Amino acid sequence: MRLVLLGIPGAGKGTQASLLAEKYGIPAISTGAILREAIRDGLPVGERASRYMNRGQLVPDEVMAEIVRTRLQASDCRDGFLLDGFPRTLPQARMLTRLLEGLGQRLDAAVDIRVSPEVAVERIVGRLVCQQCGLSVQQRDLPAGGPYACPRCGGELGRRADDNIATARERIAVYLVQTRPVASYYARLMLLEEVDGELEIPATFAQIVERLERRRMAAASRQDRAGARG
Ligand code: AMP
Repeated sequence: MRLVLLGIPGAGKGTQASLLAEKYGIPAISTGAILREAIRDGLPVGERASRYMNRGQLVPDEVMAEIVRTRLQASDCRDGFLLDGFPRTLPQARMLTRLLEGLGQRLDAAVDIRVSPEVAVERIVGRLVCQQCGLSVQQRDLPAGGPYACPRCGGELGRRADDNIATARERIAVYLVQTRPVASYYARLMLLEEVDGELEIPATFAQIVERLERRRMAAASRQDRAGARG
């Protein structure tokens, strides 16, 4: 299974990515997480990226292309992968298509998780992220008062540097201008699936899985028909 997850910041891409990765046994690749790790490790690419990230702006395409090219050629991506947060611009989407063509691969679907900007901002300012395993949780779902520990691994929960209201609004605005066209790009390629991201987490997950399974069955029956003809 080769997937791309689209959706404004706060749509729940990271949460759905980890559920899908587990179900299909594929790595979930978050370009935002790769950049945050590069910043933590003091790498030059992290230093370059942080200037954009702190303002809610996109990191230049050529930096992202290099990161994704390297990551997708790793052996754990041979049988599938899920990209969370890439592509975010049309040039990135075209680059991904070319890269996969070169590897003899193609995407199975681009899943667009739809939520309103109001819901997204509320989720972003209310979220805490585990510094150890990356789980994202809503502060209001944790026991009152704290101190807070990750419900999955017990790790320390913290707030992302860019999860403040001003940067969240800017990131959503950037998405609507620069990333919305990517959904249309995948619609033209007949790869787009739109799902409701305002449902409870398991309900959105079920919707995604149902769409993916439907596509899988359609692809299998196309293959059967081609086999019968050939
Ligand atoms: P995310 O964790 O997906 O919300 O990404 C956090 C930040 O990392 C974004 O606001 C961008 O500054 C940067 N970033 C992540 N992925 C990309 C991408 N594909 N293209 C450009 N910038 C990105």
